[in-house]
Amino acid sequence: MQKTVEKESLNPYEIVQKQIDAAAALLRLPREAVEILKRPKRVLAVHFPVKMDDGSVRVFEGYRSQHNDAVGPTKGGIRFHPDVTMDEVKALSMWMSFKCGVVGLPYGGGKGGVICDPHELSRGELERVSRGFMEAIADIVGPDTDIPAPDVYTTPQIMGWMMDTYSRLKGAYSPGVITGKPLAVGGSKGRNEATARGCVFTILEALKDSGRKPQETTVAIQGYGNAGRIAARLLTELGFRIVAVSDSRGGIYREKGLDIPKVGQCKDASTILDYPGATVISNEQLLELEVDILIPAALENVITAANASQIRAKWIAEAANGPTTPDADAILREKGVVVIPDILANAGGVTVSYFEWVQNLMNYYWSEQEVNDKLQTAMVNAYRAVAELADQYKVDLRTGAYMISLLRITEAMEARGWI
Ligand code: NAD
Repeated sequence: MQKTVEKESLNPYEIVQKQIDAAAALLRLPREAVEILKRPKRVLAVHFPVKMDDGSVRVFEGYRSQHNDAVGPTKGGIRFHPDVTMDEVKALSMWMSFKCGVVGLPYGGGKGGVICDPHELSRGELERVSRGFMEAIADIVGPDTDIPAPDVYTTPQIMGWMMDTYSRLKGAYSPGVITGKPLAVGGSKGRNEATARGCVFTILEALKDSGRKPQETTVAIQGYGNAGRIAARLLTELGFRIVAVSDSRGGIYREKGLDIPKVGQCKDASTILDYPGATVISNEQLLELEVDILIPAALENVITAANASQIRAKWIAEAANGPTTPDADAILREKGVVVIPDILANAGGVTVSYFEWVQNLMNYYWSEQEVNDKLQTAMVNAYRAVAELADQYKVDLRTGAYMISLLRITEAMEARGWI
């Protein structure tokens, strides 16, 4: 009889549920805990009208998902992207809970998204969409309940507009409602670089375990926004050789290494593809390059069962959320590729968002050095705890990270009498 191969699900909500099941089984978590953790506590869908520059009115659709608030208010970014779906937002809110759990932050996970392409909006339209979405979700967010932040295609300026709208609605200056704001309105020093910096700290820890030096390590980075571009800069400063980078339009490859400041100039002028002397490659080709470290820093589901066996990197540091499917994970494990999972590798962003929120609540602001030092401590401790647990249970780093998180949240749910 012919064996039927089940088609791999690329639905992020189903993927995160599978990841929870895997770690919960190892921990023998109570069934009730798993039932609670596998779904968000609350999901709000909103439609809001926005006046466009030509005088027409367009109705936008958005979501806010709050996964679990056992350890504290929910927290997580807002994404502006044409492919946003409710299931994606739900999954991203769940990954946020586990990410906060890995670092030990007093937050549960939240996430938001608006279906739109910011590249097609004027600045005025973008501002009205941002304010419109905040107005639509204002009843369920707040400094003590749910604190948004930036994500794909949302910026500090957008956070500034959203904070302003919320503050006007509440009649009180409320910087603690959102993080990733401009410095002038309560942003934290170091927040803009935090995701990439945190990712770099985890890479350095992973390399330490192998005895390899940055100078002999090559890197390919997919995605050239907040996470990818800053990771390229920080890794270059440490002596790593960045041989390939890409954005939504494609990538460039140069075996001898790219001049990262020059790549930045090309991107700012028009596109990285204008970089002289490099080979233009596709995003798919970038993933399969023979490099030491691969950093997916764009969107979900780029490493799947279809291409995992072609991956030649030794380490994958997931700056993006959800870049690897569970089927791909299994193939990579078999091949001996070490995956530093998203909920650990990109936790630097929410960690410094937490620092920003703390500074907002105290009205007392720290130096950049202080922020970076605290971030380093948090990331190194988180990496070591995950690596130790993974070693103890003979599981991969992703499962280890989930185990730490699930335990922390379950303990809080027990302490609150939910289970
Ligand atoms: P960003 O908007 O600053 O940059 C996104 C980048 O991805 C851009 O360079 C864009 O060109 C590229 N891109 C978009 N579609 C692509 C495609 N199909 N193929 C290749 N590249 C593509 O966003 P960001 O904040 O850097 O977020 C990137 C990833 O990092 C996301 O998964 C996000 O959830 C995750 N993340 C971000 C933060 C943060 O603080 N910004 C924190 C944690 C995780």
